[in-house]
Amino acid sequence: MNRAESERLSALLDSQGYTGAPGANQADLVIINSCVVRASAENRVVNKLMLLKHIKQSQPHKQIALTGCFVPDDIKALKKRFPFVNYFFKAGERPDLPDLEAPGEPCLPREAGLRSLVPIIQGCNNFCSYCIVPYRRGREKSRQPGEVHEEVAELVARGAREVILLGQNVDSYGQDLESKADLAGLLESLNTIRGLQRIRFLTNHPKDMSLRLIETMASLDKVCEQVNLPVQSGDNSILRAMKRGYTVELFKSLVGRLRNTVPGVAITTDIIVGFPGEEEKQFQNTLALLAELRFDSVHIARYSPREQTLASSRYKDIITEIEKKRRAGLVEENQTEISREINKGLIGKTVEVLVEGRKKGKWYGRSRSDKPVFFKHEDNWFGKLVPVKIEQASPWSLTGCVNINSQQFKEDN
Ligand code: SAH
Ligand code: SF4
Repeated sequence: MNRAESERLSALLDSQGYTGAPGANQADLVIINSCVVRASAENRVVNKLMLLKHIKQSQPHKQIALTGCFVPDDIKALKKRFPFVNYFFKAGERPDLPDLEAPGEPCLPREAGLRSLVPIIQGCNNFCSYCIVPYRRGREKSRQPGEVHEEVAELVARGAREVILLGQNVDSYGQDLESKADLAGLLESLNTIRGLQRIRFLTNHPKDMSLRLIETMASLDKVCEQVNLPVQSGDNSILRAMKRGYTVELFKSLVGRLRNTVPGVAITTDIIVGFPGEEEKQFQNTLALLAELRFDSVHIARYSPREQTLASSRYKDIITEIEKKRRAGLVEENQTEISREINKGLIGKTVEVLVEGRKKGKWYGRSRSDKPVFFKHEDNWFGKLVPVKIEQASPWSLTGCVNINSQQFKEDN
């Protein structure tokens, strides 16, 4: 989401006559787009600000702006703490910078990459007990489906082949709109855009993902077989304390339904280890769930107490950093083996790759299941969909060769 917003901010500045500078030293205006979902992210922001403070001592005319989730509703305390920052504006808001004209329609990214990020819903109404996002990004606010459709069509006209629809909870898309649009309906409309080849969306919430969405995924050719479905914990009492709104049993049945309805779907998840009060037994439940459900990959976070959240005021952060690291390490070790086995299972199969560029003498791109794929070939495959027969697999990527004999390739050409 931050990346999408930074791209749009650059485009806005471009359209107003600003040009990019090679670095903070040379720039007249520096904008920091911050993330504070964990303390480590916040610390990085503070370090950057301190560096800018230092630069500004010798270049007093330099303007500094701070945006993103570090900026709360009330900026008094921030102003006092960082008096050298000239402008503060909240995540996703239009900045009130000098020489900027009155806000108009949301800006498109400067360049339509092959894969373009498209925010469809801002904010979150869920208030999971550990999470700062609702406090910093406010309540859910969906964009009109017609506006999203137009934007995607425009991106495709400018070269995009894949769009990734973004939201803290894409399953809530449309609920705040009078038209009662939903994500499934939006996917149906985007699927008709000629020249668009792939559609993805993230992130889903297990308590909100509908059967209609799953069936729509299965029925639309452009919607990729890939879902990020954060479970956070494999223990019911921890899930309750996190205020996630589902049980392990419900989550398992959702995964079963997804796998039955969308053949070959790749599912990734997020886990938080060391939530306050998480006992060894409860942590073991998370490991057991991961072993049972066998996700394609897992994003692991160590619990970090965040200002304003229920968990940070209600519970002391009682699990030591060393213990959180041990648990995170165990999850990672187990998951690496699972990812290795899953990817090894693809050896000999042919996957469709959207080629994004070259790295270390090889072409690379992603499969529909969002796995990085590398292959060698003398032709120029940039921007093309290529069938690649997988020959090698690691837990993180696949390597293969172009398989022009594949049935799919023959049909497309
Ligand atoms: N909307 C998504 C997640 C958004 S935040 C969801 O419902 O899951 C992205 C990830 O950051 C979360 O999945 C969680 O794993 C992690 N995260 C959020 N708050 C955290 C905290 N206080 N400590 C550690 N990890 C956190
Ligand atoms: Fe945070 Fe996601 Fe929960 Fe919203 S649904 S509060 S963004 S973890």
